[in-house]
Amino acid sequence: MADEVNELLASVGHTSYETEFYSPTPEGYVPGKTKYVVVLGTVMSGLGKGIFSSSLAKILKDKGLKVAPIKMEGYLNLDSGTLNPFRHGEVFVLDDGMETDMDLGTYERMLNENLNKMNFTTSGQIFTRVLDRERQGGYLGRDVQMIPHVTGEVKRLLRELAAKSQADVVFIEVGGTVGDYENGYFIEALRELAYEEGDKSVCVVALTYVMEPKTLGEQKSKAAQLGLRQVMQAGLVPHIIACRCPSPITEKVKQKISMFSNVPQRRVFSMHDVESIYLVPEMLREAGMDREVLTILELHDRVNQRSEDTARRKWVKFVDDLLAQKDREVTIGVTGKYTSIRDAYASIDKALEHCSAHAGCRINIEWIDTTEITPRNVAEKLKHCHGIIVPGGFGNRGVDGKIACVQHARENKLPFLGICLGFQMAVIEFARNVCKLDDANSTEFAPQCKSPVIDILPEQKKLEGLGGNMRLGAKDIDLKEGSMISRLYDNSAIKRLRFRHRYEVDPRFIATLEKHGLVFSGRHPSQPIMQMLELPQSMHPYFVGTQAHPCLTSRPLSPDGMFLGLVKAALQRAYPQGTLEGVSIEKPRPASNGAAAPTPAMAVTGQ
Ligand code: GLN
Repeated sequence: MADEVNELLASVGHTSYETEFYSPTPEGYVPGKTKYVVVLGTVMSGLGKGIFSSSLAKILKDKGLKVAPIKMEGYLNLDSGTLNPFRHGEVFVLDDGMETDMDLGTYERMLNENLNKMNFTTSGQIFTRVLDRERQGGYLGRDVQMIPHVTGEVKRLLRELAAKSQADVVFIEVGGTVGDYENGYFIEALRELAYEEGDKSVCVVALTYVMEPKTLGEQKSKAAQLGLRQVMQAGLVPHIIACRCPSPITEKVKQKISMFSNVPQRRVFSMHDVESIYLVPEMLREAGMDREVLTILELHDRVNQRSEDTARRKWVKFVDDLLAQKDREVTIGVTGKYTSIRDAYASIDKALEHCSAHAGCRINIEWIDTTEITPRNVAEKLKHCHGIIVPGGFGNRGVDGKIACVQHARENKLPFLGICLGFQMAVIEFARNVCKLDDANSTEFAPQCKSPVIDILPEQKKLEGLGGNMRLGAKDIDLKEGSMISRLYDNSAIKRLRFRHRYEVDPRFIATLEKHGLVFSGRHPSQPIMQMLELPQSMHPYFVGTQAHPCLTSRPLSPDGMFLGLVKAALQRAYPQGTLEGVSIEKPRPASNGAAAPTPAMAVTGQ
């Protein structure tokens, strides 16, 4: 009997009934194969921990190492799907449909790869796993405790990621700061992990903050020291300390921090403010942080120098293009209801930034609150814009303003990109004002309307196996041959984009909409689900929309086609037609170093 119990216990991580060790090890886990980098924040949040961690992960990936990041959030929600963008920034959707914190977007953009649900966890997920295991009798009569069982579940999750990804380095970012009550058990789990995995297996990086009070005119390290002390109190000794600070940290501060934390001075790094987040990877590389991590984890012999050289060249070129002096500029209006909070539209902001580097122009974004827009003031509100984006959203607020924006863009040939709700608004506006279906609406806002051109279609959802839930994650879209959108995506027949919506175009209205000139240039491969629309160029220079969120998959080295199309159309509007070299919607202009030489026309327009 005792043997049986021990065997069962071993299967959940207890070495035997008598032991205090609880070290769950999933199938396929090879001890020593995967190393771990842990990034902890101290002093305060908002230091750019995600940018720092993803930059460090990137420079290790550049070396040919396989990295697998994971962000651990202390909150009890199972995912970020229910979080309000006003409070938490945008909800980022992964390829497999997981709804996550916007930091996952930063990782995807920095690492240039798709992540999945294994790369994100919350306390809600961890406790659910523990409670499910308890109900299944998985703890065999033991009282289930925060330590070792909940911390054990964290270790199991990390090792599962290591085993499944076969990563050289699992990159763990703990949300919040050390000392927060809610993430304390993550830190304890990491302490246990470091102990169990042994020497040279876990590299702890503490991000801290060096103050520079204006009244003193010098840098002060006390808060940083206290923050670092909290890390040590939790039983973890940092190997590397990265100091956020407005300006480069002084030798004196480095010495103090080194001396009070037992971290050699060469491993105390300045992480001062730089012009662009995309400079951070190079900044870390130049300071030698990558080499220190390799030394600490004994990974030097896994490095591929050629891979690093190529990756570095491409990245530096992108950053040079982005930061080069631009002699032409456009203004793009983003008309939504969360415009007071830039983070709520982080991916749109980033997608436009990628276009700026590739199209060689400065892009000014005007955040325009649609709750204040009416058909009477819309022209005034959009008067500076050379193009507009109507973004996604939920609920009634600001919807009329969005429709007014679409109508203004359509009638005035202002380049337009509608994203998700923006796509739905374009269908409603077209149905009302072109097809003369006066009562056209979405049943999200007007459940009783006579022409529900946008509706919840449970029958279709069933065909997709989704029931009444949100349609989430990446799906293939069939692109109409010869359409502008297919040209924007390199004439491909299929484009995979990510979705997050409930409502869609009711197929009963498709024929009417098409008869009046609307082209559905992207469809579900087998169902009558409309995913992209455009107006023919004879009607409008650039009027496109998609039920998907193409901003989520725009990357620094490969900007999204529909965004790049918008920026190019905006450029054509900003500068007299035919005078701008290298800007064609059909043929993306190859990214160059810096902007094109000014043409005489630009000189005339004074740009
Ligand atoms: N509210 C709309 C829907 O659920 C659009 C969603 C969105 O823009 N993400 O279909």
